[in-house]
Amino acid sequence: MIPIAKPIIGDEEREAVLEVLNSGIIAQGPRVREFELAFSEFTGTEFAIAVNSGTAALHIALLAHDIGRGDEVITTPFTFISTSNSILFTGARPVFVDIEEETFNIDPDRIQERITGKTRALLPVHLYGHPADMRAIMEIAEDHELLVIEDACQAHGAEFNGKRVGSFGTGCFSFYPTKNMTTSEGGMITTDDKRIAERARMLRDHGSRERYIHEILGFNLRMTDISAAIGLCQLRKLPEFNRRRIENAQTLNRLIHNERIITPRIRENCKHVFHQYTIRVTDDRDRIVNILNEKGIGTGIYYPIPIHKQKLYKDLGYNETLPVSERLANEVISLPVHPSVTMENLEYISSVLNGL
Ligand SMILES: *Cc1c(COP(=O)(O)O)cnc(C)c1O
Repeated sequence: MIPIAKPIIGDEEREAVLEVLNSGIIAQGPRVREFELAFSEFTGTEFAIAVNSGTAALHIALLAHDIGRGDEVITTPFTFISTSNSILFTGARPVFVDIEEETFNIDPDRIQERITGKTRALLPVHLYGHPADMRAIMEIAEDHELLVIEDACQAHGAEFNGKRVGSFGTGCFSFYPTKNMTTSEGGMITTDDKRIAERARMLRDHGSRERYIHEILGFNLRMTDISAAIGLCQLRKLPEFNRRRIENAQTLNRLIHNERIITPRIRENCKHVFHQYTIRVTDDRDRIVNILNEKGIGTGIYYPIPIHKQKLYKDLGYNETLPVSERLANEVISLPVHPSVTMENLEYISSVLNGL
């Protein structure tokens, strides 16, 4: 089976973890600090705050901006549930805006009509590693004095107009094993705002700056030095990992010739880092997935149910129709393009698809 995702852990990571274990400092310590500095440099932000998941990054970023009960946050329904659940955690209400067919990302043209007096923030997702339209989004945010929090959990190293995602608003990253780089579990918040960075550091650590002095209500969402040691190795490899993902995606785009299949596009001025390579088939999706799996090709459906259609959200009273998201949820199939996928694999995948 060619798996849909595969973390690459080498001797470097193994040795770095052993070094931490032998050091005696195994929770948050010097490696976390080092990883934060390296990641902020990579993203091009002043600060980076490490936490123990991408979900924690989103949750803390929202809280650091004082988003809570009575507030509305505009986001996409075509994403992992974590994006909008983080809004719910704070007591605020997610407001869903439908997506663009071409990029699978929030459609800026539909944002304006959902802005109310309660709207505090826009929370775009750079889905599959393709940046959301940050020019339009930043413009709307400026016009309406809204905060921008980016869910960059799938987009480490992606760029819009030559600027890294996570550096437009407050950035949130995940290092789950299937992402473009991993720390096992882990996450990061990026920002240029000193006050937000300070609040995020306190929120991850029981509201304290100084041990046993507690200023606000916080959590324990810290990253361990074991994770950070893995992250430091992975961050050094990320440019090469991304290069291989992009190359694999370009190869598939070149080799797939089947008029029933729509291959992914890259919007002008965007660097897409292909966390997922996602094709669309306008009918018979389940049968095609079965054929691919039977022929040893791993697939993923990201995501089969848009968030506003999930039971949790229906129970909260969401009953709107967002037609593009609902249609694309039935059409998408993600195929393997992670760095371990070989040229032979790609030729095989495309020959199976071309024979459908
Ligand atoms: C992975 C992911 C998250 C959550 O990250 P975790 O580390 O799993 O908590 C949030 N949003 C998106 C779009 C993701 O892909």
